[in-house]
Amino acid sequence: MSIVYLNNNYIPMAEAKISPMDRGFLFGDGIYEVVPSYDGQMVGFTPHIDRMNNGLAAVGIELDWSHQQWKDVCDNLIEKNGSGNLALYLHVSRGADNKRFHAYPEDIEPTVFAFAFEIPPAPVADKSKVVGYKVATHRDLRWERCQIKSTALLGNVMHFQHGYQKGANETLLYNEHNELTEASACNAYIVKNGVVITPSADNQILAGITRYILLDLLRKEGSIPVEERPVTMDEVFDADEVWVTSSSKEVVPVIEVDGKPIGNGEIGDVWLAAQTIYSAGKLNY
Ligand code: PLP
Repeated sequence: MSIVYLNNNYIPMAEAKISPMDRGFLFGDGIYEVVPSYDGQMVGFTPHIDRMNNGLAAVGIELDWSHQQWKDVCDNLIEKNGSGNLALYLHVSRGADNKRFHAYPEDIEPTVFAFAFEIPPAPVADKSKVVGYKVATHRDLRWERCQIKSTALLGNVMHFQHGYQKGANETLLYNEHNELTEASACNAYIVKNGVVITPSADNQILAGITRYILLDLLRKEGSIPVEERPVTMDEVFDADEVWVTSSSKEVVPVIEVDGKPIGNGEIGDVWLAAQTIYSAGKLNY
């Protein structure tokens, strides 16, 4: 039975209850994080908590928690749920009100919920052990505050479902200028002539922690040039490689977009080098 954290208590998942008046439930009014952990070692814990604090500040939810408090919750969930390959899901909603009124109430306590769920083992940098994604595409129809990791994910859910119904693993999104933004639950990249190119971290994308760690490691290692700039969908279809990244998946090669092969339709050498660098360096964050 999985043990979850809810408002200062560690309890079995089946006993965890929140009010139907919680604004997380009524409005999707909350911020969340997903931190991967392998054999008890978290990847990117500090930047994940920093991003959550930025999100909470952006939406005016006051929760005065230190990094250590979050670390204790994560460590306890790992200990209580068996340290394997886990994702720690951390969720702060604005809390439960006694009425449904859009304005932020001033006198309610945030609801803090966290649980652990199993994720696949960390990918290994080996072309024969990785299955390339086939992805669909869709015009990005979400809001203009995608940098906030909001629990209001219906836009992302609908975009994911669009690809899922076609048998695709993900959906790449593009804006009104035909420029790549990200994917429904991942950041996106192309590789052209050995250069890794990814859309800039602005309000059109969630600045992923995997993206941050990957770009930082690539720049420090130095053998693969990195550019952050607009990427058109024509460039996507013409790319040598396409990748998506997220915390629970790391760097995933994409071999097909809308049924068209990327490059020669095989997993690329730059992916192999990048995942090798990521695997070697990720635990330093
Ligand atoms: N973009 C979106 C929309 C996401 O939902 C996610 C992860 O959930 C990401 C990007 C990747 O972020 P991270 O690397 O922090 O997991």
